[in-house]
Amino acid sequence: MQIAFIGLGNMGAPMATNLARAGHTVIGFDSAGTTAEGVTNAATAQDAVKDTDVVITMLPNGQILRAVADQIVPVMKSGATLVDCSTVDVESAHAVAQHAADVGLGFVDAPVSGGVGGALAGTLTFMCGGSTDAFAKAELLFDIMGQKAVHCGDAGAGQAAKICNNMILGVTMIATCEAFALADKLGLDRQKMFDVVSTSSGYSWSMNAYCPAPGVGPQSPSDNDYKPGFASELMLKDLRLSQQAAESADADTPMGQMAAALYEKFVENENGLGMDFSAMLPRFEKRGRS
Ligand code: NAD
Repeated sequence: MQIAFIGLGNMGAPMATNLARAGHTVIGFDSAGTTAEGVTNAATAQDAVKDTDVVITMLPNGQILRAVADQIVPVMKSGATLVDCSTVDVESAHAVAQHAADVGLGFVDAPVSGGVGGALAGTLTFMCGGSTDAFAKAELLFDIMGQKAVHCGDAGAGQAAKICNNMILGVTMIATCEAFALADKLGLDRQKMFDVVSTSSGYSWSMNAYCPAPGVGPQSPSDNDYKPGFASELMLKDLRLSQQAAESADADTPMGQMAAALYEKFVENENGLGMDFSAMLPRFEKRGRS
């Protein structure tokens, strides 16, 4: 298959390379001029998409996605499918889906979980929204780039699943970090804390797979001076998306709201910018109740 891939950043580049390694022809475009192994770059986004059956986008946010869609949708091949893997607001997913439908193109919103490691290894999870037909066309490619693709519903359902998942992640990471900081002050050994919680009812992905305490549990960014990994500012972006969605859907999400406020403070006023999102632990460690 001939595939266009727009946005060859930390995630997009390895995803595009995996498609090329599986034997597909991948034509790439990135406004910063980056490329990826096995991918042939086009001079413009329009050039990249004009003859391809599937166009994949992996871009920073909804505003950029809408701008790129405005450029490419009018020149995409008749009957082609646009698959957006970026994490964006639900409204942007709906707007781009409508734009595609208006000119007879298929659309799937397919944000991912699994980070750069999952993108490199081809083990991402895709959470997808769109018609059954559009999902079926993209499924083969999800199988190459990932280990699981869940068709969650109509357009926008993938983004809804993603921001709900990441709201849980932000909240559980904060809870895990503040519990470690409390355990420290109570004189509890961190390894013992991990041994108990990781096999008790306080367990979570944040504790068991991505432990924020250095030297405890599996290797994670805490063992590498909290270099990301998943940067705090990206977690803040996702928590803001979940709060934006909660506001427009009139949903009560007090824990998500508190997590967004804590990450905002961390990123904007407490040197959290560029640190992994698990660096909430050293942040709590230094603090008392006041
Ligand atoms: P990134 O910043 O490394 O990559 C984005 C790329 O898009 C950049 O290379 C940039 O030059 C390019 N770009 C920006 N504007 C463009 C335009 N107008 N036309 C073409 N290219 C353009 O970001 P990333 O880490 O690869 O993340 C991409 C998306 O995936 C984001 O929405 C992010 O929230 C999501 N995501 C990231 C991770 C992660 O761990 N990094 C995990 C899951 C989801």
